[in-house]
Amino acid sequence: MTFELRNIGVIGAGQMGSGIAQVCALAGMQVVLNDLSDDRIHAGLATVDGNLARAVAKDQITEAQRREAMALIRPASTYDGLSDCDLVIEAASENEDVKRKIFTKLCASLKKDAIVASNTSSISITRLASVTDRPERFIGIHFMNPVPKMQLVELIRGIATEDVTFELAKTFIIRLGKTITVSEDFPAFIVNRILLPMINEAIYTLYEGVGSVDAIDTAMRLGANHPMGPLQLADFIGLDTCLSVMQVLHEGLADSKYRPCPLLVKYVEAGWLGRKTQRGFYDYRSGTPVPTR
Ligand code: NAD
Repeated sequence: MTFELRNIGVIGAGQMGSGIAQVCALAGMQVVLNDLSDDRIHAGLATVDGNLARAVAKDQITEAQRREAMALIRPASTYDGLSDCDLVIEAASENEDVKRKIFTKLCASLKKDAIVASNTSSISITRLASVTDRPERFIGIHFMNPVPKMQLVELIRGIATEDVTFELAKTFIIRLGKTITVSEDFPAFIVNRILLPMINEAIYTLYEGVGSVDAIDTAMRLGANHPMGPLQLADFIGLDTCLSVMQVLHEGLADSKYRPCPLLVKYVEAGWLGRKTQRGFYDYRSGTPVPTR
């Protein structure tokens, strides 16, 4: 039995995976980072390096801490590189087929008692756990974006998750200095069950011509005191992720109030996924965000 989770594997080196790798390394844990290609892994490592360099410039960490953290993160192009991990956190794209394939293949390379977690925003932990050889050692560990800044982590137990898995995950999150909320395993858990229908409604408001991108975001920033407008936030999350979460809510709860806005579908079909592709409800290519509607 593993009593402390020291060696952490992260699958997916995008916005979330790189952020998870960063906070784990800064907490002194060994991290192995995996993605579909070496290029993507190195892009993830470059993101972490850039974030840490900014933290040094702001005197939040020292140059020595930056170097130590970077030295703790190793790339792994195959799952064999994860064989020493005590905990593997999957943070690949929000697509159930992608995640199922990862979990089906991953477990054969892991230690028997390693814990497997998903950072999914919405997909059933019980269903993902069912494709592994260890549903009792499987759990949802849902970090928020951006991981280094956001205080909350949602913990979600699947139907088979054992107490020891839950307690180890809890200790791990506390070591990262973050705060836990516990959610039952229902579509999109707590944060996204509430947040994504609000974002989807903002997109309907745009779609129906009630207001422009600028009017909607200004209204919610200054009228509801939200730090970011809902369309700005959608771009920040990633429109593909927003659409996937709405689809999970719509299918999982079978209620038409969760119907994804057709305009959201259109943006995703265009490949306008928000900040990560430089275009979504805003166009980021000039350096200054310009509303696209
Ligand atoms: P992203 O698009 O930035 O990154 C996803 C990464 O997964 C990409 O680098 C992609 O190459 C990689 N990937 C895809 N298939 C893979 C595979 N088979 N093996 C290894 N890597 C693979 O997405 P993200 O925003 O980092 O989201 C990742 C996960 O985190 C999703 O489940 C998402 O729902 C969840 N999440 C996202 C947010 C957010 O605000 N973006 C917040 C909390 C949780």
